[in-house]
Amino acid sequence: MNNSPTVLEIHSKAIKHNLLYFQSKLQSKTRTLVVIKAFSYGSDAIEIAKILEGQHVDYLAVSYASEGIELRNAGIILPILILHAQIENFDKIIEYNLEPAIYSQRSLKLFIERCEHVNEPYAIHIKINSGMNRLGFKMEDRAGLMSILIPAKERVKVKSTFSHLASSEDKTSKEFTMSQIIYFNDFAEKISIDLGYKPMKHICNSSGILQYPEAHFDMVRIGIGLYGFANIPEETKRLKNTHFLKTKISQIQHLDKGESVGYNQSYRVERPSRIATLSLGYADGLKRVWSNSGISVSVNQYLAPIVGKICMCITMIDVTDIDCKEGDEVIIFKTQDQILELASKAQTIPYEILTSISQRVRRELK
Ligand SMILES: *Cc1c(COP(=O)(O)O)cnc(C)c1O
Repeated sequence: MNNSPTVLEIHSKAIKHNLLYFQSKLQSKTRTLVVIKAFSYGSDAIEIAKILEGQHVDYLAVSYASEGIELRNAGIILPILILHAQIENFDKIIEYNLEPAIYSQRSLKLFIERCEHVNEPYAIHIKINSGMNRLGFKMEDRAGLMSILIPAKERVKVKSTFSHLASSEDKTSKEFTMSQIIYFNDFAEKISIDLGYKPMKHICNSSGILQYPEAHFDMVRIGIGLYGFANIPEETKRLKNTHFLKTKISQIQHLDKGESVGYNQSYRVERPSRIATLSLGYADGLKRVWSNSGISVSVNQYLAPIVGKICMCITMIDVTDIDCKEGDEVIIFKTQDQILELASKAQTIPYEILTSISQRVRRELK
């Protein structure tokens, strides 16, 4: 059992609030898929999936088969879409009743081969490349796609066709996004005509849901929004933060004026100082660029700057002006604004800050 004082709290009430906020934007017929890849954006995929099974959620998605298998082993029964299904894992995908996204003729042919012994047509999802240029079929692949799909009707059934928006949060890219939506819808309709039945259509991620209500189609895919970020400042304010990263002071060092802190003497105190040591570092997801950068954490309601180089497993903060002692709680972040500031200092996005919190950090569901 890990009793480490360094803990990532996951706030289930906030998760539910965020889910309901996004669902309040949907028509009643629109289904909800929640993306819980990468340990549910760095939290805890199994715990989040359990929460979602108690809500009105129709689908889960993860990137890889291994992530889906973990969910199945934990007893999760919701349909699970494997966004980046890989040929090497097709047998496992079938064994664990996971539903692959099929994005190339090669993967389609090989998946159909694996479905030789299925009792009924196996659910697959066709990924359309509408402009992201990452994974998926383009319009010119239609004939080739159908020449494989139609003769395999007994083996596979297309549950959905879907695509991904590249700039859904960016209001200056509306024209490009609309072109993606139109391309997707055209191609999806053609597939539907060719097949003679109507697979579900979906394209919106979190910011797409908020910016493009006309593109909700049959289902939407909520990712970062569940965790409190909408990529649009005024919308993020309406969401609640779900990830709280906390630790405790391991030790307080008393330094004389002119002494230095940590590797390479990168920080030197200009007065007699108290330096507190925390039990987490860059191997836990703190970014080393936050060293001596003006980033502060909070100790007993006061801000304490990170001083010296962040180490692999340890970070030092200056608590000279703060009434605190060894064992006191330290909050690395608990608000979206703090996470946004950390992201901006590291020239990245909240997605990366959240998913960087290493699996070594204990998770606690609140
Ligand atoms: C990660 C992902 C999402 C979720 O995106 P957010 O921006 O986090 O809402 C949706 N669809 C696909 C294909 C993804 O890979």
